[in-house]
Amino acid sequence: MRVKLCFKCKQYVPIRENDFENSKEVSLFDKAHSGHPTQIVNKEEVASYEKWTSS
Ligand SMILES: [Zn+2]
Repeated sequence: MRVKLCFKCKQYVPIRENDFENSKEVSLFDKAHSGHPTQIVNKEEVASYEKWTSS
């Protein structure tokens, strides 16, 4: 699985193709981490990062 992570906050959000709810979550993540260094990577690379939640 691919995830989008924020290097500054050490948080990530999963990316699921063709999933509307997920694309909303990803766009909220983009907003929350606007101006932070983010990157899309494989989930195996974020073992030490926390899953981001919008609530
Ligand atoms: Zn951030």
